[in-house]
Amino acid sequence: MSGLRARVRRFLQKPGSASLAGYQALLPDVAGREEALGQLTDGELTTLARDTIDDAGICAVGREAGRRGLGERPFDVQLLGTLALLAGQVAEMATGEGKTLSGALAAAGYVRRGHQVHVMSVNDYLARRDAEWMRPVYDLLGVTVAWIGQGSTPEERRQAYRADICYASANEIGFDVLRDRLAVAATDLVTVDPDVVLIDEADSVLVDEALIPLVLAGSVGDTDPVQDMALIAGRLLPRLHYEVDDERRNVFLTDSGARIAEQALGGIDLYAEDNLDALTQLNVALHAQALLQRDVDYIVRDGRIQLVSASRGRVARLQRWPDGLQAAVEAKEGLRATESGEILDSITIQALVRRYPVACGMTGTAVAVGEQLREFYGLEVAVIPPNRPCVRQDDPDRLYRHAADKEEAVVAEVDTAHAAGRPVLLGTLDVAESERLAARLVLAGLPCVVLNAKNDAEEAAIVAEAGAAGAITVSTQMAGRGTDIRLGGTSGDGGEVAELGGLLVIGVGRHASSRLDDQLRGRSGRQGDPGGSVFYLSMEDELITTCAPDAARPAEVDADGRVSDAKAHWTVGHAQRVAEGTALQIHRDTWRYNVLIEDQRRAVLDYRDQALNFDAALDELEESSPDRVAELRGAGVPDEVLSEAARQITLSCLDQAWAEHLAQAASLREGIHLRSLGSSSNPFGGSLVPLQEFNRELTELFSRFTAEVSDRTVAAFQEAKITETGTDLAGAGLKRPSATWTYVVQENPFGTDFGRAVQAISRFLGRR
Ligand code: ADP
Ligand code: MG
Repeated sequence: MSGLRARVRRFLQKPGSASLAGYQALLPDVAGREEALGQLTDGELTTLARDTIDDAGICAVGREAGRRGLGERPFDVQLLGTLALLAGQVAEMATGEGKTLSGALAAAGYVRRGHQVHVMSVNDYLARRDAEWMRPVYDLLGVTVAWIGQGSTPEERRQAYRADICYASANEIGFDVLRDRLAVAATDLVTVDPDVVLIDEADSVLVDEALIPLVLAGSVGDTDPVQDMALIAGRLLPRLHYEVDDERRNVFLTDSGARIAEQALGGIDLYAEDNLDALTQLNVALHAQALLQRDVDYIVRDGRIQLVSASRGRVARLQRWPDGLQAAVEAKEGLRATESGEILDSITIQALVRRYPVACGMTGTAVAVGEQLREFYGLEVAVIPPNRPCVRQDDPDRLYRHAADKEEAVVAEVDTAHAAGRPVLLGTLDVAESERLAARLVLAGLPCVVLNAKNDAEEAAIVAEAGAAGAITVSTQMAGRGTDIRLGGTSGDGGEVAELGGLLVIGVGRHASSRLDDQLRGRSGRQGDPGGSVFYLSMEDELITTCAPDAARPAEVDADGRVSDAKAHWTVGHAQRVAEGTALQIHRDTWRYNVLIEDQRRAVLDYRDQALNFDAALDELEESSPDRVAELRGAGVPDEVLSEAARQITLSCLDQAWAEHLAQAASLREGIHLRSLGSSSNPFGGSLVPLQEFNRELTELFSRFTAEVSDRTVAAFQEAKITETGTDLAGAGLKRPSATWTYVVQENPFGTDFGRAVQAISRFLGRR
C-alpha cells in the first residue's frame, strides 16, 4: 500500500512541461511579416531590428537575419524554442534541431529588451565556434558579440563582458567572477553584473556538473601536518589497522589503528571535538594511502601528480583533488608538495548560475531532470517538437547473463552493420571499456576510431565524420559534445547512408541515468534521418551489481547467454531508477550544505562592494576610530590617501578572514561527518543531523566573523604606517597573496558525504 502511495505521489509531483500554445499562436503573425521583411536592404533590416521588442517581431527579424546571414531560414519549431528561451524556460530540443540558432535569436531578443546576455557553452571550443558562427546573424540584428577562452587576457575579457552577448564556458565565467573577488580597485574588475544567462546543454551544466566547485587559491605554503599524517598512514596495515570496504570507496580505522595514530600524535583522543582537524587529516591521508592507485587514478610525471579521469580517459591537467587529498597523495609519493595554497574563495556552478536574475537554457534532454531544474533553479521545461518526426528505430534492450557473451554479441552486431556499409557509433561507459572493445573490434577485422582526443576541436572533427559510410566510432560521454552527426559525414553521400538505414547507435551498457542513454540514442535520427539504436547489457554490468545486488539469477537464458525473462529486464530499469534516485539525493544533500555558506558569501561580497566602490571603509573607521582619523588628518595625510588606506586595510582583513572562514567551514563539514561515523550512538546521522549541526556551528562562526573583521581592521588601522605617500600594509601584518591561480575540483573519488553515510548505515545494519 505504502509503495503504491509513494508511486502515485511521485507521479503527481512529476513536473509537467510548459504549454506551447501561446508561442504557437504567434507563428502566423511571424509568417505574415516575412514577405515585407524580405524586401528590406540589410541596413533597413538592422534599423528595424533595433526597434523591435515584441516576441513576434523578434522572431520575424531573427528569421530574416538567419536566412540572410547563414542561408538557414529558422523553422517554426526553432522559433518556438526561441520564444521558450525568451520566457526564461529550458527548451528541450533534440540534437541537430538547430539550438545554436534558436539560442542566438533569443539572445538578440533579450538585448533588444535592454539586457546583457552570457551564453554559457560547454567548453572553450564551442564558445568560440558558436559566437563566430552566429556573428553574421548578430551583425544583421545590430547587436555585438564576443567570446572568452582560457587564453584570453584580462583586457580581452573585460571587453568581451561588455559586448551585448558574450559566449564563454561556465568555468571561465566562474574563474573571472572569483578573480574579481580579489580586486583592490574598482577599475581592476573584469566582469559585469550578471543579467541574463542562456545555457547550452543545460542539463549537463545545471545538473551533472552543478556542484563541482571552482576554486581560487593563493600562495601561502606550509603543508607539514599533511606530511606527518602521510607518515602515520604509511605505517598502518590493511585489515589490522584499517578496513577498506568492498567498493573501495571508504576506509575505516579499526580500534587498534586509532590507538596507534593516537599514540603517534602524542596521546590525543582522535574522536574528541578539539581534534577534528587531526581526525580529518588522518582520514584523508588514509584515503590517499589505501584507495588511490598510482597509474590508475593518477600518474606521476615531472615530479607532479596528474589526475586521470576515468570517464573521459584523459590526464586532466587543470584538475586537482580537494586540497587535503592532493597534498596527501603528494606526501605518499614523497613529492614536494605543490603549493596547495590557501583557498581564497570558491563557487559552484549552481551558485554561479543562481547569481543571474534571468536564466534560460536548451538541451536535448531536459524533461528527465525537470524536477531538479525546478527545485534548484526555478526553471520550467518547454518541450519543442522536432521539425520532422523522428523515425529512428529504438530496439528493445538485449540482455545477457555474462559480460563476455554481451561483448561477443556486440562485435557480431557491428560486423553485420559494417559489412553493409552502415556507420556505427558505440557508446561505452568508461575509457577502459572503450579501449578493450576497440581492441576486440580490431582483432575481428573491424577498423574503428576511439574518441579520446586531447582537445575538443580534434574530437569535434572525429564526431563530425561518425556518420560516414563504413565508419565505426567508439566513444564514452556523448553528452555535451555539441557536434552534430550528419549522415555521410562532412563530405560523403548522405542519401546513400540513409538507404542503408542511417547511423546505428549501440550502447554497451546503460548509464547511471536514462537521460544519458537518451543523449547517446539521440545522436542517430537527427532531423528526421533514418537511424537505429540498441543497448546491449549484461547481468554483470556495474549498474546492476551495485544498484540491484540482490537481483535473482535470470530464469530464462538461451544457448548464447541471452536472457529473455521479463523479471530480469525489469531489474535493469529498477537499477537505473535506484541510481537516479541516489544522484538526486546526493545533489540535494550537497546543495543543502552549500546554501548557508552561499548566503554568507553574498553578505561578505555586498560589504566588499561597498568598500571597493564607495567610501564605506573610511566612513566606518571614522566611527570606530575617530581619534586615529583625526590624528592622521592633523598630520596632513590628504583625504584621498586616507580613504585609500582605509579601503586597502579593510579589503585585506576581509579577504583574509573569508579565506580562514572557508577553511573552517570545510573542516567543520568533514569533521562533523567523521564524528557522526565514529560515534556508534548516532549511526543514522548520515544526513540530517550533521546538516543541522553544521549549520548551527557555521552560523556561530559567522557571527564571530563579522566582529573579527572589524576588530582586525581597527587594529591594523591603528598600527599601519600611513603617510601622505601611502600605506605600509605589510608593516601592519597584512598580506595579499603573492600569486593566485584557479582550478576545478575533481569530484571526490570517494563520493559524497551522502554516499558514505549510506554505507555507514548499511554497515551498521549489517553488524546487527
Ligand atoms: P543542436 O545544437 O540542436 O544539436 P546545431 O545548432 O548544432 O544543433 O545545428 C545542427 C545543424 O543544423 C547545423 O549544421 C546547422 O547549420 C543546421 N541548421 C540549423 N538550423 C537550420 C535551418 N533552419 N535550416 C537548415 N539547417 C539548419
Ligand atoms: Mg548544440
